Amino acid sequence: MALATYLVLGNDRQPAAGAASTAGKCVLSGKPREICIKDHARDLERRYRAKFAALPADEQQLAYRIAIAAVRQIAQHEYAHHLLLHPDRIASGSIARIDAEFEADFYAELSGIQAGEITGAMFYFFDVLADMEDQSKAMQSPDYESAGCRVNNFNNITAAFGIMPTMLVAFASGGGSSGDVTPEVEFPKRARELAESVAPELLAKSCGRLSEAILREARAELASLTALMAEYAHLFPKRVSKLELDEPEVFPLIERLQEQARGFKHIKGLAAGVLSNLVTRVGLAGAQAKVSRQLDAVLESTADDILSGNYGNFLDVKASHVLHNTDGPVATRIDAAKTLFESAVTFQPGVSNSWANLAMIAYIKGDCRKAAELADKAARTANDDVRGEVESVRSVFRNGISNPKRCAEAGARFAEEWLR
Ligand SMILES: [Zn+2]
Repeated sequence: MALATYLVLGNDRQPAAGAASTAGKCVLSGKPREICIKDHARDLERRYRAKFAALPADEQQLAYRIAIAAVRQIAQHEYAHHLLLHPDRIASGSIARIDAEFEADFYAELSGIQAGEITGAMFYFFDVLADMEDQSKAMQSPDYESAGCRVNNFNNITAAFGIMPTMLVAFASGGGSSGDVTPEVEFPKRARELAESVAPELLAKSCGRLSEAILREARAELASLTALMAEYAHLFPKRVSKLELDEPEVFPLIERLQEQARGFKHIKGLAAGVLSNLVTRVGLAGAQAKVSRQLDAVLESTADDILSGNYGNFLDVKASHVLHNTDGPVATRIDAAKTLFESAVTFQPGVSNSWANLAMIAYIKGDCRKAAELADKAARTANDDVRGEVESVRSVFRNGISNPKRCAEAGARFAEEWLR
């Protein structure tokens, strides 16, 4: 459905209108709604398949990114019902079901925005659903916001945030540049635009559940985050291939970002996403130790406010610092670091560095079987440029499995070298 909407927005509406009419008849015939929605999706696929296949590869990729974000946000919507205690709150009458639906949508959208996903991705799912709903009164229920309402909500949110969250996260990670679109150009330009314009008013057809005040506040936070990044726009390398960030000014930026995020009410997670990307790149430049000292505040203050993946990244940096750069007996450092690395992979299973360190720690403790298992996880999550190296370390551990005594001796020798 999301892929079809992508084509509909490219002004190819006719097939979608035909599909909506068929779907409306399905609902009117009394068939269960989930069957009609599935049939509607299949019908859209049939009508648009060839046209989608004819799109250029980069457009197809963008459409898939939107569709994947939409699916993730729909799952987050369901999760939000639990997180926000909707079953209890509805039962006790403290929130109406229809408002709970809106609250869950807003939670899902805001999470997507903070993760740097394409803003308003769920719109792409609900837009064609709204067409189907328009065909049949039977689709409209006072207990649920109509898809048409939800589409307007998503449009309001998109109007308030625009492309900036996606851009902030992409630029902070070293990506997102193309042609004239570079951090040096975009950060100052967008910061000016955000400062000079007011938050757009809600669409007249909105269903009224979206709080204009909250959107205004969140947008003001976005404006100050963008303004801060604009002050440091010159730090961002022009070459996309240069990921390392080692200019001394990056450290005050990291400090100020954390300070700013503490005052945020709505987009702490977005600030943490930007910070997490910067910290990763500082780490690539070999300054992990230096940056990790700055991260204690973020680790203590925002565990509940930021996305788990970013939190896992911070823990990984902190753990490396504890292992390699603190004073104290080696055994104590190893145990403290191990706990932190284990938390890091719980929050962010894709952080290869933590898996690799856990493998080394198992090796030091003389357990080659466990070391090989952990190194395997490190290899699966590694970047292309280090995967080979990780795989060769994994073979060393695998070879040690058959001879535990030799494994333990080699592990102990390695520890002396590694943790001097
Ligand atoms: Zn729901």
